Amino acid sequence: MRLLLVEDEPEMAAMLAATLRGQGIVVDSARSLAVAREAIRGAEHDLVLLDRKLPDGDGLELIPLLRAREAHTPVIVLSALGSTEDRIAGLDGGADDYLPKPFSVEELMARLRAVLRRPTELRMQPIMLANLSLDMEGRQAAVDGAPLDLPRRELLVLEALMRRSGRSVTRALLEEAVFGFDDEIASNTLDAHISRLRKRLADARARVSIHAIRGIGYLIRQAP
Ligand code: CA
Repeated sequence: MRLLLVEDEPEMAAMLAATLRGQGIVVDSARSLAVAREAIRGAEHDLVLLDRKLPDGDGLELIPLLRAREAHTPVIVLSALGSTEDRIAGLDGGADDYLPKPFSVEELMARLRAVLRRPTELRMQPIMLANLSLDMEGRQAAVDGAPLDLPRRELLVLEALMRRSGRSVTRALLEEAVFGFDDEIASNTLDAHISRLRKRLADARARVSIHAIRGIGYLIRQAP
């Protein structure tokens, strides 16, 4: 595989490049946004590691260009900007993962394996269940093709459930899918989202039902 490493700090860049090459990965190095843009235009990459504080701007500026050319390439941001706000900005900006500096190389390699394991088709194709469809690219649910507008968190709950339709999904996984890193999660909040989501689905005549699984979480399935 071929990886683009965007990092301006020479020692960090050299250490990462050596580690990655040691894993048999082809590494293209870029020390600035300008060079990174050229690299994206010049080759396809399987993964991008992206620093934020670059001499000519914020690394996040690269993501729209990358998405326009290689929609499926995972991006892991590596940044000293590690506050919750920074991480949310990175993930909302299109990064697949965000690793605050300093990090251990072992953790970086584990996250790299994790993002590469995610099946891109699953992320991109609409998910269908009975007459309900969910397009996470367009962030849109629809019943019989008619758009169903859902608040962001209900959309995320629905996505987590629909990816595993017919199987129970744990509360922990649902909460992880829905809430920010440092969000205070009241114990009844997830249930409140589920309850509103159920009502909206019923009002839209979606032929699906969400069941509570005692002690575990929830599952969604086609209504009988
Ligand atoms: Ca930097």
